[in-house]
Amino acid sequence: MSGPILQVALPSPLRRLFDYSAPTGARVEDLHVGQRVRVPFGNRQLVGVVARISDTSEVPSEKLKRAVELIDLEPLLPETLWQLCTWTAAYYQHGLGDTLSSALPVLLRQGEAALARQDMLWQLTTGAYAEHPAVSRAPKQKQAILALGKHPHGLSHALISQWGLSRDTLELLERKKLVQRISQSHHHTSEPLPLLREAPLTANIEQAAALAQILQSMGASDKSEASGFNAWLLEGVTGSGKTEVYLQAIEHCLRQGRQALVLIPEIGLTPQTLERFRQRFTVPVVILHSGLNDRERLDAWIAARDGEAGIIIGTRSAVFTPLARPGLIIVDEEHDLSYKQQEGLRYNARDIAVYRANLEKTGILLGSATPSLESLHNVQRGRYQRLSLTQRAGNASPPRFQCLDIRSRPLDAGLSRPLVQAMGEHLRQGNQVLVFINRRGFAPTLMCHDCGWIAECKRCDARMTVHQSPAHLHCHHCASQRAIDRKCPKCNGEDLRPLGAGTERAEEYLASHFTDFPVLRIDRDTMSRKQAMQTMLRRIQSGEPCVLVGTQMLAKGHHFPDVTLVAILDADGGLFSADFRGPERMAQLITQVAGRAGRAEKPGQVLIQTHMAEHPLLIDLTEHGYAAIAERELAARQASQLPPYSFIALLRAEANVAALANQFLEEACEQAEQLCESSGFTGIELLGPVPSPMERRAGRFRAQLLIQAGQRSVLHQLLHSWLPQLEQHHLARKVRWSIDVDPLDMF
Ligand code: ADP
Ligand code: ZN
Ligand code: ZN
Repeated sequence: MSGPILQVALPSPLRRLFDYSAPTGARVEDLHVGQRVRVPFGNRQLVGVVARISDTSEVPSEKLKRAVELIDLEPLLPETLWQLCTWTAAYYQHGLGDTLSSALPVLLRQGEAALARQDMLWQLTTGAYAEHPAVSRAPKQKQAILALGKHPHGLSHALISQWGLSRDTLELLERKKLVQRISQSHHHTSEPLPLLREAPLTANIEQAAALAQILQSMGASDKSEASGFNAWLLEGVTGSGKTEVYLQAIEHCLRQGRQALVLIPEIGLTPQTLERFRQRFTVPVVILHSGLNDRERLDAWIAARDGEAGIIIGTRSAVFTPLARPGLIIVDEEHDLSYKQQEGLRYNARDIAVYRANLEKTGILLGSATPSLESLHNVQRGRYQRLSLTQRAGNASPPRFQCLDIRSRPLDAGLSRPLVQAMGEHLRQGNQVLVFINRRGFAPTLMCHDCGWIAECKRCDARMTVHQSPAHLHCHHCASQRAIDRKCPKCNGEDLRPLGAGTERAEEYLASHFTDFPVLRIDRDTMSRKQAMQTMLRRIQSGEPCVLVGTQMLAKGHHFPDVTLVAILDADGGLFSADFRGPERMAQLITQVAGRAGRAEKPGQVLIQTHMAEHPLLIDLTEHGYAAIAERELAARQASQLPPYSFIALLRAEANVAALANQFLEEACEQAEQLCESSGFTGIELLGPVPSPMERRAGRFRAQLLIQAGQRSVLHQLLHSWLPQLEQHHLARKVRWSIDVDPLDMF
């Protein structure tokens, strides 16, 4: 076959490229790596990306198909982002096509043009003001006037949804002659706006020291070159003002004419924090949140790629947003588990962000009150520079910790009497109280009082959770539901009791106990409606004394100035977790939840209920704080050569019968052993296969094989030659299997 061959990455789980000849009429100079093409595949057409251009193909010429058309004239992604995607695919041992699917907005995957929709701006006319009589009965139009008021040079049409505006509203205003359209070119000739909408806070001594280091490495504010790779770990206790450091570092980046990318954890999207970015800067801020539709997401992506957006904020997948002039990456709450995708392409956005900063030669700022052991290890090795904020900003002081020994004490809905008493005192002083429970629902178990039978999920090795409104049993692992049993299926007894307490039960008890104060529950069940969280946050912000009962959702990022007591109902789970990360997780969670207390003028108190008040981990945590735990745990990991002192990958398999998953892993294990021998890979240990901690989930049996290596490069060499063999394995189609590089969950 003569003529160029396109090797195309297609959305397919297979780790390979597919060969096509160039579309009819395409000249060699029209072809580029990174360009999208439409190709025939089976009896349909797919959109793929050209990964390589070659002169030859192993496919015999009569079988080689011709690509239908080139979708892009130029490569879709900037060169560095293309490199980032290919690196990600290789690092996580995932197909390039599928990796690109994770990285690109849906519409681009479907072949939509990657061009801004219109180069059109909306601007207020001179006669427009928010109290204009023509909009007195039109709240949306009034809101639009307020939003456009913040953009004296016009708001790009592509960005209107970011401000909650619709085209219809703007067109109505246009007819009333309060709004006009102008063209983009006009925009560029206008006077530059001042960068800041409001003055920064005066940094305190520690913030100033941290900023001095960052700004120094970022270089002078007027230079045009990216300033080189630098990684900082900003370790700041909760409430120490990390966000202010981010804002001032971003200001510097914007003054260099560059863009900032800010990654936040999934439930960290607090409207308060986001508002602080918009409030501070006049540049367009785009927020990639789950409420965007596909078109809005693509618009935001294009605004970032073309350099129109100054600040891009988003969760995990935003790490793949192309930037015209990258200057700074920030990863807030870098320890957060939501940066790790747990299915498909199992990537860690924080780690990719660090690699990206390296590639694009920018600074990266990782912030947390409870840094991951991985990042602390990188500080020890000199890869990251540590910046510390040890004091709370403003006048806030750190909360006081106290463990409440609940051995042989009576509990009502999981709450001990001294705890309820303490809550009463805080409430009567006009303060708010936060109760943290790590389980939603009414009770984690339904038990027969006569014979001890427990309601279990029919599809998982797990117990059903009792929910009360509406009343049903719910499996939190596979989401199956059924009615609450009325009779014990084993002994026919009728005395079935919910055992233990979840958020619903604590709420019920507290509402009946504190009749003078509202009790607000915040968990996935009460927050499923779109505006629920915002409504709730407004209520909390009003400062009225109340009880907040909630799960992890309450633990992250929020600033509750009137909460003075935080109660942690059950700290014991993490003390005997099977996962080697258990203690780290528990210490992070307790510290984060506790960090919600006393964040303003009022001092805070933290009460931790436990059956193990003498446990060294709890003592260390309450007396010496997270840093002490982190140090201990790092030493323990080093002693047992666990990550970050070694490198692991987890091969998981699941099947309808347990034996099949096991057999697949047994044979995979033998293949790996042979590869290690024949290729001389040393320092590799294969542990397993073993059944997963929850062997049966959603009706499938699960098993796993752990691969541990002393050197990352050796681990990757093994995976690289092993996985293609696994794809060809005779059982590969009967079991569902996956590889997880740097797994964070061991089940
Ligand atoms: P963190 O993200 O570290 O938990 P925040 O950035 O949310 O902390 O800051 C906590 C509070 O302290 C916020 O209300 C913030 O406005 C305030 N704050 C931060 N820095 C300063 C400062 N330099 N002076 C006064 N108040 C500050
Ligand atoms: Zn029974
Ligand atoms: Zn289940």
